[in-house]
Amino acid sequence: MLAVRDLEAFYGVSQALFGMNLSVEAGEVATLLGRNGMGKTTTINTIMGIVKPRAGEVQFERSAITGLPSFRIAKLGLGLVPEGRQIFPNLSVRENLVATAANRLGDTTPWTLERIYQMFPGLKARETSMGNLLSGGEQQMLAIGRALMTNPRLLILDEATEGLAPLVREEIWACLKRIKDDGLSILVVDKNVADLIKLADRHHVVEKGRVVWTGTSAELAADTDMQHRYLGV
Ligand code: ATP
Repeated sequence: MLAVRDLEAFYGVSQALFGMNLSVEAGEVATLLGRNGMGKTTTINTIMGIVKPRAGEVQFERSAITGLPSFRIAKLGLGLVPEGRQIFPNLSVRENLVATAANRLGDTTPWTLERIYQMFPGLKARETSMGNLLSGGEQQMLAIGRALMTNPRLLILDEATEGLAPLVREEIWACLKRIKDDGLSILVVDKNVADLIKLADRHHVVEKGRVVWTGTSAELAADTDMQHRYLGV
């Protein structure tokens, strides 16, 4: 579904990606793991067209999307839950959900407000609250709901549970499991390796702007040396 090949990206003269390679198959949950500053956010932002790559290619459903403007990439079916949530602060929960909602690819069972509220009952209770008045957990649920309302083919989450209380984290993981069971493909960045081992199918470990290890959840769980060396676990 998604293939990233030999991506290189720079901030000014400083290189952040040094030949990044990764893939996400249809229906799977794949991860990007790695310590701070290794290039996970840059990879996601390059996939989404927010950072322009200097070399390499991004293919989505076999079409090259490298360097397209972000709005076109989003319209092709990539839904982003960005680092820091980026909720519209002066729109209500409902307005945040409907502002960018669409079913461009003609899903027969599209995400609707009702489905989002079923998945996140807490959002229904806060329907008329402004985005800036929500807790971190509510904002993350809203960011996921907002991305789902675009009816994406691939959901990308950057730091899915960063800064959230353990109970809220559990709720987010349970929702992602349900979304996966519905058949949506997911690419997720998070620091909670143990939780990702339970949720995801395949992992990419990033070190200094490139992938140094890929494998299944069982392989990741078994490779404690690698976890220690690259993830500090
Ligand atoms: P984190 O978990 O801390 O977000 P990350 O793995 O997502 O880390 P990136 O944010 O992609 O890493 O950063 C990769 C490298 O690019 C780092 O060296 C970082 O300092 C640098 N970098 C990131 N954003 C910028 C920017 N806007 N300008 C300059 N350098 C940047």
